[in-house]
Amino acid sequence: MSQIIQREAALVLFSGGQDSTTCLAWALARFDQVETIGFDYGQRHRVELDCRQLIAARLRREFPHWADKLGADHVIDLGVLGQISDTALTRDAAIAYEKTGLPNTFVPGRNLLFFTFAAATGYRRGLRHLVGGMCETDYSGYPDCRDDTLKALQAVLSLGMDHRFAIHTPLMWRDKAATWALARDLGGTPLVDLIREESHSCYNGDRMHRHDWGYGCGACPACDLRRAGWDVYVKNCHPGEGRDPPINSRDG
Ligand code: ZN
Repeated sequence: MSQIIQREAALVLFSGGQDSTTCLAWALARFDQVETIGFDYGQRHRVELDCRQLIAARLRREFPHWADKLGADHVIDLGVLGQISDTALTRDAAIAYEKTGLPNTFVPGRNLLFFTFAAATGYRRGLRHLVGGMCETDYSGYPDCRDDTLKALQAVLSLGMDHRFAIHTPLMWRDKAATWALARDLGGTPLVDLIREESHSCYNGDRMHRHDWGYGCGACPACDLRRAGWDVYVKNCHPGEGRDPPINSRDG
């Protein structure tokens, strides 16, 4: 799984969550040079932005074969998103589902904006490959995470900037359990443990409660998804590990 398929450089949309951390490892395994980009859009909880720094530092320290490839980090101020959207990610409101069926964490067009800013940065830096953790399997209904949306966006960005971009979404058809398995394939247990410990998914910004699958409130949709994926991953790959053994164990 670690063969280099492109002797080229990539820019990874890196938020500090489980998905984008796994994508960063995926890119480090494939490309000669990898830079990261993150967006500060007035998130209610700043913890993800802090996690980014810790994850990058640990990747450099604990994965020396990747350290030389991991280059500049770009943080773009997109505070303007708070002016044009009113969501539970940027204001103090409970996570809920709207009449549209989308959670109120939905920022319309957010990933379109992120990729457009990433492409503009990539253009300036000479980076052709853009990598994002969008997923159509567990995607909470976000239309800007769809494969068709991102294929169309790749064409638009390439035409509009006259630069041949390739958008890579290695998690598009993977569920959360398969994302944990991908991390294990890329970096073994040390990478899985790094992602459990340092990546952040919880919508409520909870870094107080530590679970098998990492930190989080344990109750929001992001925690639900992360926990469910971890439980399936553990059951598939390491029966009996990572959790207390079941009371009615077949061995007993
Ligand atoms: Zn949570």
